[in-house]
Amino acid sequence: MTMNTQGRPTRADEVEASAPATFTGNRALQIEESLIFEKDAFGETGVDFPALAGVNRLGNAARKQEIGLPGLSEPEAMRHFVRLSQKNYAIDMGPFPLGSCTMKHNPRLNEKMARLPGFGDIHPLQPQSTVQGALELIDTLAHWLMTLTGMPAVAMSPKAGAHGELCGMMTIKAALEAAGEGHRTRVLAPESAHGTNPATAAQCGFTVDAIPADATGRVDLEALKAKLGPDVAAIMVTNPNTCGLFEREIIAIAEAIHSVGGYFYCDGANFNAIAGKVRPGDLGVDAMHINLHKTFSTPHGGGGPGSGPTVFSAALAPFAPVPFVVKDGERFHLVETRRAAKAEGEGEAGGRLAAFHGQMGMFVRALSYMLSHGGDGVRQAAEDAVLNANYVLARLKSEMSPAFSGYCMHEALFDDSFLKGTGVETIDFAKAMIDEGYHPMTMYFPLVVHGAMLIEPTESESKQELDLFCDALLSLARRAKAGDQSMKSAPHFAPRRRLDETAAARNPVLRWTPKEPLKAAE
Ligand SMILES: *Cc1c(COP(=O)(O)O)cnc(C)c1O
Repeated sequence: MTMNTQGRPTRADEVEASAPATFTGNRALQIEESLIFEKDAFGETGVDFPALAGVNRLGNAARKQEIGLPGLSEPEAMRHFVRLSQKNYAIDMGPFPLGSCTMKHNPRLNEKMARLPGFGDIHPLQPQSTVQGALELIDTLAHWLMTLTGMPAVAMSPKAGAHGELCGMMTIKAALEAAGEGHRTRVLAPESAHGTNPATAAQCGFTVDAIPADATGRVDLEALKAKLGPDVAAIMVTNPNTCGLFEREIIAIAEAIHSVGGYFYCDGANFNAIAGKVRPGDLGVDAMHINLHKTFSTPHGGGGPGSGPTVFSAALAPFAPVPFVVKDGERFHLVETRRAAKAEGEGEAGGRLAAFHGQMGMFVRALSYMLSHGGDGVRQAAEDAVLNANYVLARLKSEMSPAFSGYCMHEALFDDSFLKGTGVETIDFAKAMIDEGYHPMTMYFPLVVHGAMLIEPTESESKQELDLFCDALLSLARRAKAGDQSMKSAPHFAPRRRLDETAAARNPVLRWTPKEPLKAAE
């Protein structure tokens, strides 16, 4: 019998041996939930209006058969979605060690601010005179983003990091074309780059040339220099990079790319490690996106909503997209067209990347986070994130194998060499973490490391939480080395075991087929 510290039993020891197969398929609070369509009792609930007598004005668009929506009562609908939500893992349930994602706590204060009616209930098409506070908030956030990065301009509208990359690379392209340098078509990116970097460059019509890493996991400066030439448009570098390491030669990299007339795009997804410590503008960066949903604590995951404001150097600022907020006298207004931007003396502004002004709710949360932390708090968050990652690295390196020697920045990268000869692979190790109640770390990324496991604890986690996490991973590593093959079929305790993710991606079944064909509409 397992006891808690008060001496009360917490769980029976022999769950599996004597456990019955339950009739419902439920395991206590773990409810076996079917698809909503399988619960369907169409026509049993809800209200039907009498059929409209008279003319059908819908022509061919009139419905020919029943709509087929599930007909659940309110408690049934409610339970369905609550049960599904309980199958989710969330940052509010436990650590989310996904490297490169900066999954940190989103303070409830941010949520409270975002729901203030003056921010939450306004409409983007409202007259600007009635949303002065919202425009001032965008302007204030823009100010602090420029201050923290040491860059003179920012485009607020990009809606994710990848969208910010697109914003940055389109702006670089516009600046090159305006200078008669449209023949520059090659973009350099390290082999360890996040996939969105080469994808963005390709989307903008550039060809991508990979720069190898050196033995320490950083950009090989000599290899980079060898690739420079008059056709190079830009370099895209992440700093700290995706191996969790600071690019020590960042200034030399900036000088090298500038010496051949190219621009320096910095992927700012890892800004959490250096916010308040280093200003990318001082390092020679020309453009960088900031993932508000990583560094500035706004929620993310599940596809959105993100926010990727992009800061620019003076050379690129005139080509940044509309809209942007300006203040004249006491009033704020949005500059929404290229012509208006020109009239403001803002150069050859690009067009729009997104509807309206960007992700208002994320702006409120990010500014709320910044103001509640202050400059010293933002800096401490960066320092604590780096300290936590190094603590994890130090604790795990006795059993697991760090990919590179020395300290890391905000994330600790391991390769799979500690699993050599055990029969257990990175994926098995990650799946076994699910049984321990943890979301796995980022696996198999970056690609430059074999069987990579990238752990980013962030500053949100306490020492106790990190110790339990490390103890769990150390025990898994020992089990694997002791020849325990049960990890090969983990997870054992999750509602679903190993799904065929490849088949799901190649042959997605996105449509529910009713058992009986839908009846014709009356
Ligand atoms: C998260 C991430 C991105 C992409 O950001 P999204 O907001 O997910 O589009 C780009 N580069 C790196 C290094 C990242 O970690």
